Amino acid sequence: MKKDLWIGGEYRNASSYMKLKNPFNLEVLAEIGIATKEDVLSAINAAQQAQVEMAYLPSFERAEILEKVAQFLKDDREECARLIAMEAAKPLKAARAEVDRTIMTYTFASHEARRIHGETVPMDGAPGGQGRLAFTVREPLGVIAAITPFNFPMNLVAHKVGPAIAAGNSVVLKPASQTPLSAYKIAEYFHRAGLPAGALNVVTGSGSKIGDVLLKDDRIKMITFTGSPEVGRYIRENSGLKRVTLELGSNSALIVDDGVLIHQVIPRIVTGAFAYQGQVCISIQRIFVHENIFDSFVEQFVSETQKLKAGNPLEEETDISAMITRGDVQRTQEWVEEAVINGAQLKLGGRSEEGIFQPTILVNVPSGEKVSCEEVFAPVVHINTFRDFNEAIDQVNDSKYGLQAGIFTNDIHKALQAARKLQVGGVMINEIPTFRVDQMPYGGVKMSGMGREGIKYAVEEMTELKLISFKTE
Ligand code: NAP
Repeated sequence: MKKDLWIGGEYRNASSYMKLKNPFNLEVLAEIGIATKEDVLSAINAAQQAQVEMAYLPSFERAEILEKVAQFLKDDREECARLIAMEAAKPLKAARAEVDRTIMTYTFASHEARRIHGETVPMDGAPGGQGRLAFTVREPLGVIAAITPFNFPMNLVAHKVGPAIAAGNSVVLKPASQTPLSAYKIAEYFHRAGLPAGALNVVTGSGSKIGDVLLKDDRIKMITFTGSPEVGRYIRENSGLKRVTLELGSNSALIVDDGVLIHQVIPRIVTGAFAYQGQVCISIQRIFVHENIFDSFVEQFVSETQKLKAGNPLEEETDISAMITRGDVQRTQEWVEEAVINGAQLKLGGRSEEGIFQPTILVNVPSGEKVSCEEVFAPVVHINTFRDFNEAIDQVNDSKYGLQAGIFTNDIHKALQAARKLQVGGVMINEIPTFRVDQMPYGGVKMSGMGREGIKYAVEEMTELKLISFKTE
């Protein structure tokens, strides 16, 4: 299969192609077009031209287009899940869950398209402001460049394309090189749904080569990026005065307080740590357990993790499959070995086979170890102990990241204390930090990023507030 570039509402030949391989068995899945600088400029041109039509498209029409895309996804749920499973090595169960969430994301986008509005402004609150009727409206920004990662190839594209189209913008989408097929699929759905040609363009090729064309072009008004902190920082520093939102990584933490019925929460914590091989921005990486329950927690956690089945992502039973690259397997191996040399105890895993890194549990990891203070983005979790609750909060906050944190406790005071003190974008009480539904505000502090997604909040980022003031007297 050959995939050309999607520009101006049609596939256009690329001048060269790269082989896309299945990360699990390394079979070639497709030949993917590599965009040149001219191709990217041509996509920006197409988006710029479509922008005029998009800005005047009534909101009910934008909403209907988004509803149709959600319906196409429902119709093709299994096909889409298999596409994600193949290009991202995401186990089918998780891939289906991603398609279901993508449907929700476009559905929320269609709702949001119908209710973008401003507010009246009480101008007479200031001396000299009387005799005026004033209100705000929200206008589309124009052309938005969306740059997305490999780990949720459909739903994270939806979190950018959904609100951008809902708000009347046009988009140039640059998906991760490992997961272009689901992005092209979405472009085809939008085309079928009646989106004006050029309002969504997809360009593929190495981000480090074509990214700069998007960052430097003044016709692009906003970069919405999800990916690693390193690339996020580069984008922030090289985008001039464009609006930029960054959804970056984390080393998410969970506190488990004394008195919690651990057998009730452990299955969920295991899912939060190892789903999609830990390659989720809010995967549980650090667990802090009260010393009174530490030993039994570790024992039960290990035994629950042993139930996970590793294998081909396309098999129904598979829970864990290959990591995205063999290089990431190697890096993970090195980080785990380093931690063990420096005093951590390995309770489970620590090895890999054919691209699959076994679910790995470490205990008593020094906080300076890479598996603790860097984003591991692999099926590796560590469990440390605490005695004093404030100490647990400090340990969670002792991180350069701050996306979401979770706490299980029966003590309302501690829950409220955690809510106030944890330095993150979202605090999940009696829940794992890995929890997300697609309409909630979502984003990080510190090196986890800036700006918020969750359709309503992304629409705010993707629109310009304009004030209109009538002098009536
Ligand atoms: P990545 O390597 O940063 O890549 C993300 C995207 O950026 C890809 O499309 C990539 O293209 C592109 N890119 C690379 N270099 C670029 C440059 N110089 N200029 C412009 N674009 C460039 O991230 P990833 O490995 O795909 O994804 C994993 C990361 O995403 C983790 O850190 C994870 O925590 C984070 N993430 C965050 C969230 C969140 O919502 N906070 C959600 C999911 C994932 P190529 O693929 O062609 O290199």
